[in-house]
Amino acid sequence: MIERKLAARTVGFKAGERNVFLHLLTACNLSCRHCYINPSQHGTTTLPTGTVLKWLKLFARPERPSNLILLGGEPTMHPDLAGIIRAAKALRYAVTVDSNGFLFHDLLDRVSPEELDFLSFSLDGPEPAINDPIRGENVFTTCTTNLQKAVRKGFHTSVIYTVSSLNIDHLHRMPALLAEFGVKRFFIQVIGLRGKSAAGRSGMETNWQVDPGHWLEVVPAVAREAAELGLDVTFPKVFLEPGEQFECAGNVAENYFIFPNGRVYQCPLCEDYPIHSFSIKEDQLVKNDGLTEARFFSLSIPEGCVMNKLLQPDNIDYGDDGTPRHRISCCLLKQEIVPLMD
Ligand code: SF4
Ligand code: SF4
Repeated sequence: MIERKLAARTVGFKAGERNVFLHLLTACNLSCRHCYINPSQHGTTTLPTGTVLKWLKLFARPERPSNLILLGGEPTMHPDLAGIIRAAKALRYAVTVDSNGFLFHDLLDRVSPEELDFLSFSLDGPEPAINDPIRGENVFTTCTTNLQKAVRKGFHTSVIYTVSSLNIDHLHRMPALLAEFGVKRFFIQVIGLRGKSAAGRSGMETNWQVDPGHWLEVVPAVAREAAELGLDVTFPKVFLEPGEQFECAGNVAENYFIFPNGRVYQCPLCEDYPIHSFSIKEDQLVKNDGLTEARFFSLSIPEGCVMNKLLQPDNIDYGDDGTPRHRISCCLLKQEIVPLMD
């Protein structure tokens, strides 16, 4: 086997880059067991197309690199998704659609590969026996069939795998499968305790969390293997090395997580709570006063991320002297391993 040269790096928050995560709707045809959508906080509205176009303009900065990630629920259930993608491209966003793979409204026939930067598919296992108990019956087959169709049509595709205690031991089978499918990028995510997976915190339901040792043993090695097969791989840093600097994206980056009820968060860990930094009111972005997530961003604690400590302290491991063995990084800090061109 020819050995590929790889470049591995931690992806800091890039100066000047904006990431706009727009939830077009919260409805979905699936009911994944770890779904993070929380209708009591995020509403049940489907954004009318006219509103989407106004909101896209509100966040557009055509003179700066801006990524737009169109999300749901299931974004392809929005009947005007193809037109929304074109409007976003005209505003010079780099556009990604994150789909569960069902691709409603003939998306692959209604946009061209040149109009969409990336089409992302969510898969939580290398076969139906692992994926479908988490995401639903027959989801693996539908998702992978549409993924291969997208690749054949020339779309740039990525796959998102949400690692939890239910599927971490099957992650190592993903690189070969994705290389065979012709996928370009592989995003390994860590399960967050939001939405439905947060409901298990009482201990009555599934314990989704992966302990630090298990994560560090499995994830970086699988990421490297995927990169050796030619995939660009991104995975969250999670545990900082001793001496590595902690930074909160809320202080140093521009990320907007926008929900159809007009809530705009800067931190995804805060999305289950009414502490959003901004609201969209009458199609204008308004900064909120009072106790918002922004109050937490400047707090400095030995454990690293304050919201992690508040919401999911189980992933912090303490030594005998009571100090944390690892600080937890910002959940938006990623590591990237990419194959280098010869
Ligand atoms: S596909 Fe996404 S939005 Fe739909 S149920 Fe699954 S996690 Fe939730
Ligand atoms: S995850 Fe933690 S460090 Fe990152 S933006 Fe939220 S509060 Fe800040």
